[in-house]
Amino acid sequence: MGIDIGGTKIAGAVVSDDGQIIAEERQPTPAGDPGAILDVVVEMVQRLGADRPIVATGVAAAGFIDSAQSVVYYAPNINWRNEPFRDRLRDRLGMDVTIDNDANAAGWAEFRFGAARDAHDMTMLTIGTGVGGAIVTGDRLLRGGFGTAGELGHLRVVPDGLLCGCGAQGCLEQYGSGRALLRMADEIADAGGIGLSLAEARRRAGKLDGTIISGLIAEGDPGAMSALRQLGHGLGQACASLSAVLDPELFVFGGGVSIAGDLLLDPVRESYLAHLPARGFHPEPRFVVAELGNDAGVVGAADLARIHAKAAPG
Ligand SMILES: [Zn+2]
Repeated sequence: MGIDIGGTKIAGAVVSDDGQIIAEERQPTPAGDPGAILDVVVEMVQRLGADRPIVATGVAAAGFIDSAQSVVYYAPNINWRNEPFRDRLRDRLGMDVTIDNDANAAGWAEFRFGAARDAHDMTMLTIGTGVGGAIVTGDRLLRGGFGTAGELGHLRVVPDGLLCGCGAQGCLEQYGSGRALLRMADEIADAGGIGLSLAEARRRAGKLDGTIISGLIAEGDPGAMSALRQLGHGLGQACASLSAVLDPELFVFGGGVSIAGDLLLDPVRESYLAHLPARGFHPEPRFVVAELGNDAGVVGAADLARIHAKAAPG
């Protein structure tokens, strides 16, 4: 069973050994009430698992999770602070439970069943409102010494750059996220010139959003394309630094912005090559978009739980 707890929705799915979803459902998240979240998850697992042999339950949630996959130190969208969610859920369900960061779960799903299924070393960047990350190295998910490895959105790409929600300055999240794309599009609209269509769309709608910008990108609007290129350049620069540390075979891009496909990947690759240390002497990794979409969280969480249950039965 895979459960993906988001800020607005909780998704649950029964997932087969080969990553196929057999049954699923969604419920709104009672975000302010940890007890109510537990109740929603317990009922969901019981309903979905009623006539099926469930081996274990894996939970994916946005936030910092400890390396024992047990305690949520901090979740930005949910009222969880040092929440021992694994033990609470395990006691209610009477089965093995694991918790993972949502970006890690999505990355693991792409590694096992999606865009990186043929690779041993991959780095995934999930570009939503913020930027999430997942690292698989030597066929293993990198969790780090304290469980919080792979927070790639907070890699610094601009010294003394824009202030980030995490308290630091110049994080990738400020230059490579969906929110950054909106800011760049606003700046281009303000400057006039190629920004005329963006400015006109903003005037009509009140403000720019992801739907307006993807519509303009689909039409080949030069202002919107320029914003996407800037975003790609920020991401490519981060990928070059990541290559120096992790040397992945491929970079996978997930999240809403990745729908742009090559329009995003081309500037990423260009900037990657421009910033790569010892360039010309390093094989080029592949840059691809994710394949599993919104299902990646539940599929990855379920697979990680199954692996954990197999390694430590009972
Ligand atoms: Zn940050």
